[in-house]
Amino acid sequence: MTDFGWNYPPGVTGNEYAISGDEGSWEEDLECKLCEKNTLHSCEVYRSIVSTMCMECHDANDYDSDWWFGVGDMAYDVVKDGDGV
Ligand SMILES: [Zn+2]
Repeated sequence: MTDFGWNYPPGVTGNEYAISGDEGSWEEDLECKLCEKNTLHSCEVYRSIVSTMCMECHDANDYDSDWWFGVGDMAYDVVKDGDGV
């Protein structure tokens, strides 16, 4: 028996981002340091990390969700209403 029924290669649990997807995503106006103005950001949360990406210059940042949810109402709503976190 060499087939143990695993659908994933060794070392892949199935919980990886590419497989399970993000836990919540939204778009929000945020200040972009590169653009030096408020721009629309594509945001998502995965495993307690919030990632934001400026839609204009594509500068990306990661934030700890504990911090983020203290300042981002939209992020909190997204996660609270979803099944993430
Ligand atoms: Zn930008």
